Amino acid sequence: MASSGEDLLEANWGGLLDEAAVHTQTLSQLTDEAVQACPSSDESSAHDAVPVCESSESEGPMPTQSWSLKPASPWWAYRLVHLTRQYSREEIRRPVNIISGCAGVSAESFVFKALNIPFNLMSASDPAAHCRAFADENLTNHQATHWFAGIKQQAEGTACLRHPYAERCQGSPVQADVALLGSPCHPFSSQRSTRWTKGSVEGHPEFDISMSQSLKWIKAFLPGVLIYEQVMGFTQPFFEKGSETPLLRFKQLLLSQRDIQPGYWLVTLKLDMKIWLPIARPRLYLVFLNKGKYTKDQAKTFKDIVEDICARQQQLPARTLADTLLAADDALVQQGLQRKSSKELSGLHLQPARAGRWQEDSAKWRAELGVLRTYHPYTQTLDLQKAGLGTVGCKRTLDLLDCVTLAAAKKARTTVKRVEQLLSETLVDVSQSHDRRPLPKLEGPNRCLTTSNADCCAQ
Ligand SMILES: [Zn+2]
Repeated sequence: MASSGEDLLEANWGGLLDEAAVHTQTLSQLTDEAVQACPSSDESSAHDAVPVCESSESEGPMPTQSWSLKPASPWWAYRLVHLTRQYSREEIRRPVNIISGCAGVSAESFVFKALNIPFNLMSASDPAAHCRAFADENLTNHQATHWFAGIKQQAEGTACLRHPYAERCQGSPVQADVALLGSPCHPFSSQRSTRWTKGSVEGHPEFDISMSQSLKWIKAFLPGVLIYEQVMGFTQPFFEKGSETPLLRFKQLLLSQRDIQPGYWLVTLKLDMKIWLPIARPRLYLVFLNKGKYTKDQAKTFKDIVEDICARQQQLPARTLADTLLAADDALVQQGLQRKSSKELSGLHLQPARAGRWQEDSAKWRAELGVLRTYHPYTQTLDLQKAGLGTVGCKRTLDLLDCVTLAAAKKARTTVKRVEQLLSETLVDVSQSHDRRPLPKLEGPNRCLTTSNADCCAQ
């Protein structure tokens, strides 16, 4: 029997291993989420060749298998292999079966692909057509067998978007080895202006998805490993000066499910992407390890390894955005902008912004800058087609670009015309609101640049 709810709730949330009374049903024979590793000691030179095991340099047990990255693997995959070189790994006996629940273009699939770990994406869900299209386009040979519009449909196993005429589509015909669930963060995000008002979190239309719908999803699949990702606002009280947090509520909800056997070990991790790329993106990861498959010691080892990787990555320099983004004049970027401007995609990527909100934020910003709402010195001469903004452009995006340019001109005490040069290394995250002043830099720390798929737009 797993620990009582009280034990769980009194546990230290600073990242210690907790024991959760979440249970699972019959367990099938699963391969551990093992990956074969053998690092190259020089990750920069490893891009040219498949790494070969080194026999002399080792801080611990020697890897039992070599980990063969593909030459086109991204830089972080080589870094990860490098940072885990002292850990032994088990042989992969068969593809890892995974399911993806609104996890941002099935992000975990891209990790498996980058690490060259064979996997089978049994099903995935995402309400955004653009996200689904992106995942399909980039996951050649690994596309989701079933695509659902949301975690509710995925858990219920209704006909999916690929097979609309099917009677049913099974999201997980065999037990998933790994499942990633990214429920909506909006109710909990501290970026939301009314986040701390009493009733605001629970009253948010997406609150139920993160709580009861997530629970139903977990119970429907009972995977070997479940990773639940949320913003840090999930760990903060429901309202100002309150004591209960959404995290505590969620765990109580899980603990009350007595019909789930034999339970999960819970590892709580607080990670921040900024140690890899200079973008502050602190996130909470609740990693549930099925007790039928993993021992408490294994769960503890997993946590130790993740923390060790993070600690050692912190000693290494983070990549700059300039290292990881294509140059503005790169042929691929130009091609992409042209496609984005085309009619083919114009209907896909536009979705309405909250009416009136951006205009209010813009007016506030412009008042600070001392300029009229109708002043658009930058975009009035911009080649919209070339900039990937279609033939008409999106009023919110265009206004944001003007505000950014005007603010930079004011700061540098120069004209809009002259400031364009200064802004050549500035990125404008057009998915973000005016209010957030979304200005990531190619160098140095950043607080935004999101994974958003859409230019929220109101014509
Ligand atoms: Zn289907």
